Amino acid sequence: MSAVRETDTDATQPTRDEAWFAARASRGVQGLKAYDPGHDLVAFRRQFGEANLVELGSNENPYGPSPDARAAILDQLHSLHRYPDPLGADLKRALAAKHGVETKQILLGNGSHELLMQLAQVFAAAGDDVVFSRYGFAVFALATQAAGATMRIVPALPDDHPTMPLGHDLDAIAAAITERTTLVYLANPNNPTGTWFGRAAFEAFLAKVPADVIVVMDEAYAELADAEADAATALPLLASHSNLALTRTFSKAYGLAGLRVGYLIAAPGLVAVMERLRESFNVNGLALAACEAALGDVAHLEWARARNAEQRKALAEAFERRGLRVMPSQTNFVLVRFGAQTTRIEAELTKRGVVLRPMGGYGLPEYLRVTVGTVDENRRLLATIDAVLGEVGA
Ligand SMILES: *Cc1c(COP(=O)(O)O)cnc(C)c1O
Repeated sequence: MSAVRETDTDATQPTRDEAWFAARASRGVQGLKAYDPGHDLVAFRRQFGEANLVELGSNENPYGPSPDARAAILDQLHSLHRYPDPLGADLKRALAAKHGVETKQILLGNGSHELLMQLAQVFAAAGDDVVFSRYGFAVFALATQAAGATMRIVPALPDDHPTMPLGHDLDAIAAAITERTTLVYLANPNNPTGTWFGRAAFEAFLAKVPADVIVVMDEAYAELADAEADAATALPLLASHSNLALTRTFSKAYGLAGLRVGYLIAAPGLVAVMERLRESFNVNGLALAACEAALGDVAHLEWARARNAEQRKALAEAFERRGLRVMPSQTNFVLVRFGAQTTRIEAELTKRGVVLRPMGGYGLPEYLRVTVGTVDENRRLLATIDAVLGEVGA
């Protein structure tokens, strides 16, 4: 800022634009771009009508939450004038029991997005390095930049890798850690690639990480992975590694994306420091009640998991039959290579009310991310893709 400051002689100031305010923002925020939510879905719903739209762009659970979650919300409607429990004690108790940890190891967030942001706010600052994989979840970059720290983006496994194309290269991530590194973000399974790594690889990685580097494992899709796939969770390693934190969410397998609830599990001391920054009522009362109820309905979760696994396999095979390459996935989406015509194909699909997620922002312009829908949604998706591919001649 210049030494001589502008003073207003005139009562009305000119309207300042984004650049003017950005110049006054903190260093980290100056380099930031706002989160790209993809398409304007509300506008599409208005245009097509909800029933005609095939929404497969946001990795939502097409089956919705447990009916118990809806009932719990109705039960709560009498107390909308009350603040929610600022401790979220009942939900934390239920989560602690489910995961075999203590309640003081759990922190609730307004979605796990909030927790991932807060981790960088707490554990990284200007001069610190934060390490994560290329094609890692987009929030890792946002969180690092907002905190004013430096991103160390590690090349992913190559796209012709025999088992895990575009996946996290754990050896390279470990090698990228320096004395300046305070935080590492991993996602297992990862979004947008769908890729994952196993328990042995994760343990070998952790053995190489200095004890004062916080390792965050984003496990947003953990409930959707097949048991046989060996997608590692950080849970069993928390007791032996104080520098480990894992995040989960009610947005995906539990079908409650609209309520915005995620949680973090870590050492009690790490949680206590994160608590210093948490907004006092960050999770609302309806959400607390609904999530607690959803946790109790194991059968619904298991049913949604099984349907997703079956439809994921069918969808991947359908793409492959059409000569399209599908990355391996243990999530509720598949990353599909549509090639040089991807932008045109995506535009044509959107015109017909089929919404997928473009990947240009991730540096994967020849791919689209496709959420696994219901049988009916997947059928409509594939019919529309066939029509568009025929037209585009791809
Ligand atoms: C969807 C997703 C989340 C969850 O975000 P919420 O804020 O909990 O809805 C977190 N991490 C990854 C990798 C995701 O894909």
